[in-house]
Amino acid sequence: MKWWGWGIEGVGFHHEDKPGFAPFVLKAVGLDLHTAERAEKPAFENVQMPDSNAQASFLTALAGIVGERYVSTERIERVVHTFGKSLRDLVRVRSGVIERTPDVVVYPADEAEVQRIVDAVIAEDAVVIPFGGGSNIAGSLEPDPTETRTIVSVDLGRMNKVLSIDDESGLARIQAGALGPDLEDQLKAKGWTIGHFPDSFTHSTVGGWVATRSSGMQSDKYGDISDIAKGMHVVRPGGLLEIRGIPSASTGPSVREMILGSEGRLGIITEVTVQVHRIPAERTIYAYFFPNWKAGLAAMRAISESDAAPSVTRISDARESGFSLATSKESKGVSKHVQNALFGFLKRRGWDLDQLCLSFIGYEGSPSHVARQKSMVGKIVKKHGGIGVGTGPGVLYDQKKFDTPYLRDFLLDMGAAGDVSETAAPWSKLQGVYDATIAAANGAYAKLDRTGWIMCHMSHSYHSGACLYFTFAFVMGDEDPLGEYDIVKSAIQGAFVKAGGTISHHHGVGLEHSPWLEDDISPEGVAVMRGLFASADAGGNFNPNKIL
Ligand code: FAD
Repeated sequence: MKWWGWGIEGVGFHHEDKPGFAPFVLKAVGLDLHTAERAEKPAFENVQMPDSNAQASFLTALAGIVGERYVSTERIERVVHTFGKSLRDLVRVRSGVIERTPDVVVYPADEAEVQRIVDAVIAEDAVVIPFGGGSNIAGSLEPDPTETRTIVSVDLGRMNKVLSIDDESGLARIQAGALGPDLEDQLKAKGWTIGHFPDSFTHSTVGGWVATRSSGMQSDKYGDISDIAKGMHVVRPGGLLEIRGIPSASTGPSVREMILGSEGRLGIITEVTVQVHRIPAERTIYAYFFPNWKAGLAAMRAISESDAAPSVTRISDARESGFSLATSKESKGVSKHVQNALFGFLKRRGWDLDQLCLSFIGYEGSPSHVARQKSMVGKIVKKHGGIGVGTGPGVLYDQKKFDTPYLRDFLLDMGAAGDVSETAAPWSKLQGVYDATIAAANGAYAKLDRTGWIMCHMSHSYHSGACLYFTFAFVMGDEDPLGEYDIVKSAIQGAFVKAGGTISHHHGVGLEHSPWLEDDISPEGVAVMRGLFASADAGGNFNPNKIL
């Protein structure tokens, strides 16, 4: 992972092969990519950061547990383990001035070593911050700048094995530091899949998914991680909290649910027992066009109510559909001809192409099951005025989805902030949340006197509602870029709660969403949570200040 951005060093976003992209950006945020100056990649040697305050005796104790090779106070290691990948994180790390970093990073090999590290941390009255893939975008990792105790980042990266699979129950025990591709490859070799594919799949871990209550693209079929994670091991001071992999239990309040979304505040997750599934015989994503957002949204609700039960239901609003078409690679020959013919046909049928909404529906299972699902969805789509456009765009989307995050770094290089905020709301409130959020973002752009962009898709359907995922962008000023970002981000988050949504469907709370927690779960809800943290972590040693 790059220390200053998303993904692998040397890989980035390019628009030269996407002729519609530059005109789109010019119109959306007023940025001319042909004339704008691209910032240089920041130089690591210029980064200013505090020295490690870890005592030699403490470092020796840690080395005695994991071996000297797996204890690091190197500057680069400490910077990589300071932040996640939110826009705020990227702006700060690129600024080259970092107020506080972990003092030491340790890489345990197994649960027993994690236990000894935790006990050593408590004996030292140090702070421990568990680290998975470092991909969170909610401010869930960064140390408190005023923290004077030694801060230890525990990177679970060496603990990346699928330990066992109970074939009869489809339950796999997986070490918490396994990244998405690590665990999926090991499961696939035995004919299984976890079915959890967040867009950050390549750079996030199963422990991190549990600690942030993550959700993957195919959640309509496989559930969110809160459904998938049936059991877990959590190392706490002096002992192991063990939730066995049980299908369901009435032992409430649920400790399993307390660990889900705990963001390192209750201990270190070392193992997760997840529900796995046999790899489906067929897996396909179909694309559909709808004449407008309202028709598309109504169709998604009808699909969620039907027996079709697809793995993905997703629809982009007209702005995001326009963006998707603009970022497509240049289509030539037959495909361009087909696209032009299709758009001509839709125009003749009275469609306003500026209102066109692109939808993806995923199907998985046996060929006969997939055929039945497709037929049911096809009828619903037709009823709502939509048409099917085949698998082409879906294949492209499936291939591109893990590359899109590189776009944010590219925009930042050019001086533009691009970020996301997501919520969930009941079907009855979804349109209201959508309208309020767009209005709030546009209000914030007007306040800043800036041309700004906001687009949305609906994904992750449930019987009672769905997730709305907003992407916003604007060109930041030089003086106070994060102050400007706060104005836009706060307007969006405030609109969510006011209009009946939650502060986050799947990115967690961290520091980023904490200001709205009380509005979301009520002051009494916050008081109960405060009591939990105070009793479970009286010394405030576990990732303090996150969530609340
Ligand atoms: P980290 O970022 O390392 O840590 C996150 C929090 O969990 C921290 O508080 C950390 O202390 C704690 N933690 C991590 N591991 C453990 C452990 N073993 N024990 C206890 N606490 C632990 N999220 C989604 O849900 N769906 C998406 O589609 C999605 N797409 C994304 C796309 C991009 C481009 C980016 C940058 C992020 C995206 N995210 C998404 C957010 C992020 O990937 C998730 O929050 C993810 O679950 C974080 O996992 P991680 O392993 O990277 O955790």
